Amino acid sequence: MSCRTSRDKRALLRVVRTPAGSVMLDPTGRANGRGAYVCRADSCIERAVTKGGLGRALEVPIPETLETELRTAAGLADEPADNQED
Ligand SMILES: [Zn+2]
Repeated sequence: MSCRTSRDKRALLRVVRTPAGSVMLDPTGRANGRGAYVCRADSCIERAVTKGGLGRALEVPIPETLETELRTAAGLADEPADNQED
């Protein structure tokens, strides 16, 4: 996945579709499987998860829980959890 603001893979979060078909955050960046990158920005994470960017990149449905995992990994999880849009 491309993102105009991403310059460095270390600044990105890697999500991997494992050979078993599950989708998970890959903190090491080296997990086996098909990977996609998301940058550590609120808007990018939201777009990647809720707008289907990751699902298209990895060709599998993305669990909604991944958004929380990405936000936590990106250090964005300090905001109140009751502020979700619906
Ligand atoms: Zn981005």
